[in-house]
Amino acid sequence: MEKIIEVKNLTKTYGKKTNKFTALKDINLSIYEGESVAIVGKSGSGKSTLMHLLALLDKPTRGTVIIDGKDASKLKNKELNRIRNKKFGFVFQQFFMNPKDSVLENVLLPLKIAKRSIFRRKKIAEEALKIVDLESKAKNKATDLSGGQKQRVCIARAIVNNPSIIFADEPTGNLDSATGDKIIKLLFDLNREKGVTLIIVTHDEDLAKLCGRVIRISDGQIVGESTAKGVKAEKAEAKGAKGAKVAKKPAAAKKGGKK
Ligand code: ADP
Ligand code: MG
Repeated sequence: MEKIIEVKNLTKTYGKKTNKFTALKDINLSIYEGESVAIVGKSGSGKSTLMHLLALLDKPTRGTVIIDGKDASKLKNKELNRIRNKKFGFVFQQFFMNPKDSVLENVLLPLKIAKRSIFRRKKIAEEALKIVDLESKAKNKATDLSGGQKQRVCIARAIVNNPSIIFADEPTGNLDSATGDKIIKLLFDLNREKGVTLIIVTHDEDLAKLCGRVIRISDGQIVGESTAKGVKAEKAEAKGAKGAKVAKKPAAAKKGGKK
């Protein structure tokens, strides 16, 4: 399997002087083509910060992000924009849709940025809306949709350029479980059928369990990593804690991780 993203010694510090806050400390991580990876941890642990750095939406204070073998810090803005537009799809709650535009307009935006012809934009966007089962809402204003429908529009918009990676930050947050399940199915169908790599930040342990790999972060550091096959590495938090097998559950429980 090809490595698509590798991060080395990634550190992110926000603010200056007395307001300095280190949200990520020395993260090392590789993500391989076709994987589904969950990033879990309690609120404020650095999940979104890590996601933004992986997705080249923000720059690290120290360390490197290597995308397709290239050091992202050496890439020109134009190339970074191209990668974000063509290679990545984003399902972020804070990436609001343009409320004044129609659903279709919102979905075809990445195609416009990619300079596809007006004819192709419309066709591809309609196709994507069909996949998320919202073709009937194409002409609606983006505001006139339920939370789950908006999230599906975000997925449609995320897939129009055939991305190799989809970044999803709490894709099921604020949704009822039936709607959340639909979103999850859509994402994992893309993973299975099109080989799209999924990187999902989530609070939801059930969603995390569906991923091939779960990365746990706490206070800006990776504190555990498990694969579908079992615990791969689990750093004991307290000195003298017993091995990986027992470390997993008590550590999560202690954090009050349930939500
Ligand atoms: P999570 O997604 O796990 O909830 P974040 O990555 O959003 O956590 O945030 C990690 C920490 O960094 C939090 O303590 C948060 O307050 C802080 N933080 C995030 N963004 C900024 C910012 N732009 N400026 C200052 N501090 C920030
Ligand atoms: Mg977050």
